[in-house]
Amino acid sequence: MTTKLLILGGTTEASQLASFVAQSGVDAVFSYAGRVATPKAQPLPTRIGGFGGIDGLVGYLRAHNITHVVDATHPFATQMSWNAFHACQSAGVQLIALSRPAWKARKKDLWTHVPDIGGAVDALQGEARRVLLALGKQNVPAFADQAQHHYILRLVDEPEAPPPLPHHTIVVSRGPFTLAGDLAMMKELCVDVVVCKNSGGIGAEAKLVAARKLGLPVIMIDRAELPPRREVSTVEAVLDWVTN
Ligand code: NAP
Repeated sequence: MTTKLLILGGTTEASQLASFVAQSGVDAVFSYAGRVATPKAQPLPTRIGGFGGIDGLVGYLRAHNITHVVDATHPFATQMSWNAFHACQSAGVQLIALSRPAWKARKKDLWTHVPDIGGAVDALQGEARRVLLALGKQNVPAFADQAQHHYILRLVDEPEAPPPLPHHTIVVSRGPFTLAGDLAMMKELCVDVVVCKNSGGIGAEAKLVAARKLGLPVIMIDRAELPPRREVSTVEAVLDWVTN
């Protein structure tokens, strides 16, 4: 069967893989969930939107003669990753994850680890502070339980409705982010504490380096369990796997 790749994207690393695959000439399609208004254009044929659960993905894999799936989604996109795992098993399609090693605290880092969004909300109990929420828009409403804080929301798109937080500033910006940019933003907006997911990777690490330099605490949301699939961490390793 002719090789045909499906890349599940939505990350800086997935975009890097798409460029690499396009140059290699391997037949491939790129998939976005459709969460942002104007997704980054890719040098590959691109589809947008969910597949319709595991069964929908099995149907898509069969209908498009996909032979290999690369799960290059964000490590917190656990639903998609588990769906890909089960659908590939069902359809007899090979699966690999282009994964991003979790960030590890360094000397001088002031991290508090929490297991999930609820844990991050609980960790914010206490006096009012200026909190940088470096999270997706879907996670913002939970922070209404700690309404005393002023939240700085860094979002990819301007929200359609105002967030349910009485005190907030919205920063519309799309990664990858730079250290100079994050330092300037955090100083200008007088950030006291950063809340983020342990995404790993390069596109969003700058805020952690900036927090270290400014001596700011970080509430770090740890990863949930991901499926037991084959994993690599470079685009070259993905292409080796596809072509060998
Ligand atoms: P999720 O909760 O794991 O997935 C929910 C549903 O969205 C999936 O069941 C699937 O719908 C659809 N979906 C997710 N990724 C898809 C993709 N690449 N192509 C087609 N459908 C996809 O996902 P999420 O956390 O909402 O993340 C959505 C997208 O945003 C992903 O592409 C991810 O890489 C990116 N992202 C997520 C985060 C985060 O913190 N979660 C951060 C940055 C970027 P069906 O069941 O209908 O197939």
